[in-house]
Amino acid sequence: MNKRTALIFYILSVYVVVQFIWWGYHLIELTSEVSAQSTHVSKRVIMIMGEGAVFLLLLLVGIWQIRRSIRKELKLSERQNNFLLSVTHELKTPLAANKLYLQTITKRELSKEQSEDLLKKAIEENIRLERMIDNILNASRLENKVLKLEKESFSMTALIQQVATRFNTIMDKELVLVESSEDVEIVADKFMIETVLNNLVENALKYSGKESPVIIYIENDVSAITFGVKDNGPGIDKKFKDIIFKKFYRIGNEEVRTQKGSGLGLFIVAELVRKHNGTVVCLDNTPKGTNFQIRIVR
Ligand code: ADP
Repeated sequence: MNKRTALIFYILSVYVVVQFIWWGYHLIELTSEVSAQSTHVSKRVIMIMGEGAVFLLLLLVGIWQIRRSIRKELKLSERQNNFLLSVTHELKTPLAANKLYLQTITKRELSKEQSEDLLKKAIEENIRLERMIDNILNASRLENKVLKLEKESFSMTALIQQVATRFNTIMDKELVLVESSEDVEIVADKFMIETVLNNLVENALKYSGKESPVIIYIENDVSAITFGVKDNGPGIDKKFKDIIFKKFYRIGNEEVRTQKGSGLGLFIVAELVRKHNGTVVCLDNTPKGTNFQIRIVR
């Protein structure tokens, strides 16, 4: 649905309502003119007015519902445009960067450290590209409902440690820390939980500028497992805390945004958690930053 179609709908709606009231008015006038002073007529006028009012009400409710779904569609299509804008850029940038790194390595006389540095950067770009493509594929699988849960029992603490180690190795910095008091076992789809953690840690690092520590934590009690990712970044304003989980949603304006992304990461997190009958919320971290918390009932 584009803006022009929406405008045509609004104009038609106003026309239909005005026309309906106009006809109703004329019908009442006509009935009174045909046989004035009869009590039968006044009953009929009341009937026309009553039925007209019910019909008008139904018409208005219908128009209001359609208007709501039009607005939803327009917002989604705006987010979709933003997505295309950022995704084409996102897919091209790592490829162009990798080409440059490899060209520099092959064409120039570089020291071992310099080549290693460039290769490391190329690997980082590759991983980012891989995650991006994974996210697009997962979003489309979720949309088409072809992603099935494959539950197994595994150590959540070990998985968290594995995810943290992988990020730290890639960055060559001990930025991702683990907070877990005991070994927690979970029955869930391991691949999905790993994707959830990857997306949350990636965001935490991205938005906090890879300068302050990011913590993956897990708490265990008899009825549920609670885990999440905390960062010390800029945090998220209260008014965006729900909408960020919507598909393609990114805070701010695409033309001036400096952070890379697709708006799919948190949508995938929310959907995968929902598949486990769990909940995900965005809380404030103290003193600042976000705390994305997931709770899965045992
Ligand atoms: P993106 O690809 O833009 O990161 P996401 O769906 O992962 O898409 O996140 C949606 C939006 O939520 C982001 O554009 C960003 O504005 C905000 N966001 C997500 N995680 C964080 C975080 N840890 N700190 C601050 N803002 C965040």
